[in-house]
Amino acid sequence: MDLPATSDERLDDVLADIARYAKRNDRDPADIALMAVSKPKLAEDIRPVLAAGHRLFGENKVQEAAEKWPDLRAAYPDVTLALIGPLQSNKARQAIQVFDRIDSVDREKIARALARVMQEEACQIPILVQVNTGEAAQKAGVAPMEAAAFIAFCREECGLDVQGLQCIPPADDHPAPHFALLGKIAARNDLSILSMGMSADYDAAIAMGSTIVRVGTAIFGARTLAPKQ
Ligand SMILES: *Cc1c(COP(=O)(O)O)cnc(C)c1O
Repeated sequence: MDLPATSDERLDDVLADIARYAKRNDRDPADIALMAVSKPKLAEDIRPVLAAGHRLFGENKVQEAAEKWPDLRAAYPDVTLALIGPLQSNKARQAIQVFDRIDSVDREKIARALARVMQEEACQIPILVQVNTGEAAQKAGVAPMEAAAFIAFCREECGLDVQGLQCIPPADDHPAPHFALLGKIAARNDLSILSMGMSADYDAAIAMGSTIVRVGTAIFGARTLAPKQ
C-alpha cells in the first residue's frame, strides 16, 4: 500500500481514518484529538502540517523541541506542544518553558521538580501521568497498582493539574488490553484525557475510548533525525 507523498496529504488521511473509526464505535470524532508526533522531523518538515491548519504536536525530547519549536511557535502562536517522552528532573525548567503540557510524568522526583519550577516560574501547565500497563516489558511509567497513589501524590502533595493518562503498550503485545486497563484507571481517578494509540494501533485505541491519538510515522513518514544513542 502506498502512502500519499506529502505530510499534509497523509494528515488528511489520518483525520479521515479517525472520523471513520469514531463512527464505527459510536463516538463523536470531535472527542478524539490527533497529536502529530514530530519528533523525528526537522522544522522544515513540520511547516507543511502547520500550514495545513494542524495545531497539536508531540515531541519526545526536551532539547530537540527547544531547538525546533521557538521559530515555529513565533509563526503559529496557537500551537499546543506536549512532551510525550521521558523527562529528567534537571530538564524540568526548560520543559515547562518549551511545552504546554507534560504527558509523561511517572515518578515522584519528576512531579516534585515540575511543581517546584512551575512555582518559581509562576506558571501552571497541566500534566498527564504515564502508566506502564506492560509492567516488566518497559521502564517508563508508573505501575498500574501504584497509579492511584501516584495521581493523588501529584494532585495533593505537588498541587499539579493532572488531566489524564498516557500509555505505550509493549510493541509485541496486543494493545487492546493495555488500552482497556488505562481506561479503567482513568475512570477510577476521575481523569478525562486518555492519550493512547500510535500509527500502528490508533484504530484499537479509539475503540477503547482514546481521546488523544499520537501519530508520527503515518503523518511524517520515516525518521529524518537519527535517534540519539
Ligand atoms: C514516537 C512516539 C509516538 C508516535 O509513534 P508512531 O508509531 O511513529 O506513530 C507516539 N507516542 C510516543 C510516546 C512516541 O515516542
